[in-house]
Amino acid sequence: MTTITQIGHSRVEFKPSKSILTRSSGYIGTFDYTLNPYGGCTFGCTYCYAAFFARTETLKAEWGNWVQVKENALDLLKKRRRPLNGQTIYMSSVTDPYQPIEKELELTRAILEELAAYHQPRLVIQTRSPLVTRDIDVLTQFQHVQINMTVTTDDEAVRRVFEPTCPSNARRLEAVQRLHQAGLRTCITMTPLLPVRDPQQFAEAVLATGADKFVVQHFHASERRFVAGTGNAALDLFEERRWTAETYARVVMIMRQTLPDLWEGQAGFAPVWD
Ligand code: SF4
Repeated sequence: MTTITQIGHSRVEFKPSKSILTRSSGYIGTFDYTLNPYGGCTFGCTYCYAAFFARTETLKAEWGNWVQVKENALDLLKKRRRPLNGQTIYMSSVTDPYQPIEKELELTRAILEELAAYHQPRLVIQTRSPLVTRDIDVLTQFQHVQINMTVTTDDEAVRRVFEPTCPSNARRLEAVQRLHQAGLRTCITMTPLLPVRDPQQFAEAVLATGADKFVVQHFHASERRFVAGTGNAALDLFEERRWTAETYARVVMIMRQTLPDLWEGQAGFAPVWD
């Protein structure tokens, strides 16, 4: 049975799911599984590729305003007989496991507790939210875990155009620092890299978090689709800031002086464990 409720600007649907683990493919095909506790994402980034996998045109058009909670996610995991020891899991590929609803529901947290206690996979968490620091006590129970924090720019004006309801860049960087101080392995994914105000200072700021790894990727505005109603503002900003492939290359070159091991593109997402 599906239950629907409205929280702020978000329509929240609680519905059972057939599965919780999906065999990985494509961009993150180097992982064994992806795990998405939610469908949809109320962070609603204007460039989100996941929006284009939504099942209906209405869901695509309303991306950012709805989330589906896989209410039986924990039960599905508990029913799994084969342990996931040593298997690599990417959490999450088409949602943010720490989007706002997670604060109240604690579904991601419950899944992590189950994974840590009974499976011990090699886990990578991908998020844009400092809420991940709430679960430091569970994350430190994993033998192999990496938290990827996406930080796409040093400019809050840019962030507000592309990631209007995401936490600020400063809060994300603070979160990485806290995770690092707790002894957790972290990676800052500047994917996609959006217009940057001061590449040198930006590189110094991400380095100062103590993160173990840094990944960058160009955003091909002309080849990308934008979530409904957001494309013009995004394209205008690219033009205004002259954000081209050449500008991106120049910014990366400057950042590399501070971050010599800066990974680029898909290769940066492949898990490397000690
Ligand atoms: S946080 Fe990730 S999944 Fe959510 S809208 Fe942004 S890009 Fe998409």
